[in-house]
Amino acid sequence: MVSLPRILAEGYQRFRKNRFQQEESLFQELAQGQEPTVAVIACVDSRIYATEIFDAKPGDLFIIRNVAGLVPPYRGADEYRSTAAALEFAVCHLQVQHIVVLGHQHCGGIKAFTQPDMEHTEHISAWMHQLKDVAPTNDITLLEQAAIRKSVENLTSYPFIQEQIAQKKLTVHGAWIALPSIEIHWMKTVGFENINMQK
Ligand SMILES: [Zn+2]
Repeated sequence: MVSLPRILAEGYQRFRKNRFQQEESLFQELAQGQEPTVAVIACVDSRIYATEIFDAKPGDLFIIRNVAGLVPPYRGADEYRSTAAALEFAVCHLQVQHIVVLGHQHCGGIKAFTQPDMEHTEHISAWMHQLKDVAPTNDITLLEQAAIRKSVENLTSYPFIQEQIAQKKLTVHGAWIALPSIEIHWMKTVGFENINMQK
């Protein structure tokens, strides 16, 4: 039998000893069902931990992760579409009130999009191709933020999201996280605003 990688085994021991004991009643409550009010679409990047950044408890955030944290435009259900399925679950079943597209600085997915040799990684290449209509720029930060804006626009192409927005039950947002400062820049009608409150 192959044993757990050490980092997982040790982390699990710490979790059982510390956090699980401290929050056991919360885990018991969550076993009855989840009621998150916010869905976050984030990058798979190991440096982007929405739960830590927003100091959220288990059960608070419904997190969808994919390369670069993108939302593809609505295209029906004729293929396996994990992001669309997760959005449908968040909106139609959990009735989240907010969806946040969370991009970040130094995003490897966005960087790959700008590199001509990305056909060597066929799945990343095909996934990132959805940004083909985003205005070309050599400024990676601007491209990362344009990708967020595009994903927020794409959210509104999903009929079930349109319906909830029209009923004023759902709001969609975009945010970009600077690294290494972890300062959140919130998407505005034009540009992104640093909302860091520690200044
Ligand atoms: Zn990324």
